Amino acid sequence: MFIKDIFTTKKQPVLSFEIFPPKKNSPLETIYTTIEGLKHLNPDFISVTYGAGGSNKDRTVEITSLIKHKYDIESLAHLTCISSTKDEIKNILTTLKNNKIKNILALRGDLPQDPNFKFPTPLHYNYAKDLIKQIKQENHFSISAACYPEGHIACNNLAQDIEYLKEKVEAGVDFLITQLFFDNEHLYDFMDKIRKAGITVPVTAGIMPLLSKNQIKHCLTLSKTTLPPKFTRILEKYGDKPEVLQEAGIAYATNQIIDLLAWGVDGIHIYSMNRPQTVQRIVENISTFRDLIKK
Ligand code: FAD
Repeated sequence: MFIKDIFTTKKQPVLSFEIFPPKKNSPLETIYTTIEGLKHLNPDFISVTYGAGGSNKDRTVEITSLIKHKYDIESLAHLTCISSTKDEIKNILTTLKNNKIKNILALRGDLPQDPNFKFPTPLHYNYAKDLIKQIKQENHFSISAACYPEGHIACNNLAQDIEYLKEKVEAGVDFLITQLFFDNEHLYDFMDKIRKAGITVPVTAGIMPLLSKNQIKHCLTLSKTTLPPKFTRILEKYGDKPEVLQEAGIAYATNQIIDLLAWGVDGIHIYSMNRPQTVQRIVENISTFRDLIKK
């Protein structure tokens, strides 16, 4: 099924999870426990990341296919274009089609660190928009893309970032997934701005539960995400007490999601970090509220 149809037919906000493939030297089967742990939470879809630089890409296809065909859950394959040539991308699209995958999250990916890598390059799709045009031509997939409530790290001007986002959406995007954020007001401001700019597709909110100090540090270096004071206080006070921090993180994510649902968000996409027990706690916390509300 096309995920875009879930957004139009479902009466409640869409609920989805993101997982990542196990490292090459770990058996693929280690992901089974994660998927089984998430399955009974009834997600509308599960997405599978594509390793930075295209690493582990075969596993993304394999796991996306497994989620759909073995576990009977709709799946979304992430695909980045900057680390593969146009011909390689066309081959990956054929493999996805052969595996009957219907949904792709089309991404540019971070630029390679290699100083010899010249950007833009004629051999590659240089922006997600260019990848989306190619996928659209295949006439087989529903396409989603990334958006950044606080702006993409490489763009110093949010208005300009939104102009590029509009071009990307017009190239054929059915819905957007946001980068993680910890202050919902950033999302609400962003939504006002993109709707004013004429971007009308559904936007699902990417929520990352805070589980450890290192995890948060890592996310902050890779993105423009900022921490509100109420979040920093938790980190300062419990940063060195992992069990306490984790409990606070689950409570924080729960509150964030309840506020998003009350605001009327189209969907919630939880970055599971392959920790189904954490996701389960959050989903249980919001379940009664979620059951009672309509879009
Ligand atoms: P684009 O939309 O192409 O934008 C990239 C930059 O170029 C932005 O700064 C934008 O403002 C600018 N830009 C766009 N168009 C133009 C133009 N015409 N001219 C000049 N500048 C332009 N990475 C992975 O490696 N694997 C994953 O699985 C993965 N999953 C992700 C999932 C989500 C929900 C999100 C939010 C991000 C994910 N990423 C992943 C990270 C993503 O690959 C990086 O953020 C990457 O740097 C940008 O990808 P994009 O698709 O947003 O790029």
